[in-house]
Amino acid sequence: MSELKYCQGPECYKHRTQDRIKGPKGNKTYQTRRRSHFYYGNGNFCSMWCLNDWFNDFGDRAINHFGRLTEAKHLTEDNAWYKEYDWRADDNDEHRYYWTNPLTNEQRPLTKAQYDDNNYTLNTGE
Ligand SMILES: [Zn+2]
Repeated sequence: MSELKYCQGPECYKHRTQDRIKGPKGNKTYQTRRRSHFYYGNGNFCSMWCLNDWFNDFGDRAINHFGRLTEAKHLTEDNAWYKEYDWRADDNDEHRYYWTNPLTNEQRPLTKAQYDDNNYTLNTGE
């Protein structure tokens, strides 16, 4: 049994849903959701609603703290490769898995083992 944790949404308890009502008769309150697992915001939020509430309150401060982008990042031709999969090809087709580079319009064949290997890459750096 994993430990229960609270949704980090600052307004979670204000979203009036039936499952947030807790407490004995005569003393019921809407409460922050508590679960063993959440699906949003890296497991910290019960919903996109709560994630957005958090971001509205703290997002600018978080971005400024960890570094606001002030210029565009670039993905160069050397690092634009990604793995593709042709679902129309059959299993024996050697062209089923391939590398593709949309910046250079190149394609290179790939084995299924290479396709499945998350460490295998043609990209040379960041
Ligand atoms: Zn929530």
